[in-house]
Amino acid sequence: MKDIGKTRFDSERKQMVLELGRKGITDQKVLDAFLRVPRHVFVEDAFQDRAYGDHPLPIGLGQTISQPYMVALMTQILQLSGTERVMEIGTGSGYQAAILSGLVEKVYSVERIKKLSERAEDILLHKLRYRNIILIVSDGSYGLSQYAPFDRIIVTAGSPPDVPKALLSQLADGGRLVIPKGDRYIQTLTVIDKKGDEFITSYEGGCVFVPLIGKYGWNE
Ligand code: SAM
Repeated sequence: MKDIGKTRFDSERKQMVLELGRKGITDQKVLDAFLRVPRHVFVEDAFQDRAYGDHPLPIGLGQTISQPYMVALMTQILQLSGTERVMEIGTGSGYQAAILSGLVEKVYSVERIKKLSERAEDILLHKLRYRNIILIVSDGSYGLSQYAPFDRIIVTAGSPPDVPKALLSQLADGGRLVIPKGDRYIQTLTVIDKKGDEFITSYEGGCVFVPLIGKYGWNE
């Protein structure tokens, strides 16, 4: 990642990370990733002053950059060691992909809205020069069979109760999928571990995401 130098946002970013710690994020590698990634670069100019508050913000086209705590929690739940190939469904602003970039080997991030993927490409690959992120425009409810299997899959849009089967089939043995699932407007953060032929499901509490729209998601 390109160093964008010291900015007026540095102290706000430190405060945000302290708050994440207070709210229960304990994985130091995750907290360090939040210290490195300049969230203000991912939000729209009109919201720059709120970039380090712990809330989602609009990024245009009816979509949002997720709340930092939720990004941190999902990243912590992934239990990353640094060697993983990770698929993210829902590139959005690109912020979650940037956080993952420093914690894993490779990130494959899928977005269905071309304009958002192009915006994320400009920030991630041209402005900040991340080298291990691949951006794809497609319906992520199909996953990415051409790059499977993945050690981790993170879905940052709300899935219907039936998790898309393609995502389960593209998970490596020993892999973990983190996905908000439930109804269209409110979901439960769900963790699915693949052990041999078995899928073991656990739950991490309520959450609110924009819907996963697609063939194996919700209708538009
Ligand atoms: N991870 C993002 C970030 O860091 O900014 C936030 C994601 S935003 C809450 C959800 C995103 O999922 C939106 O950009 C939306 O267009 C995208 N999305 C919804 N359904 C999708 C699908 N089937 N495939 C890929 N992306 C999808």
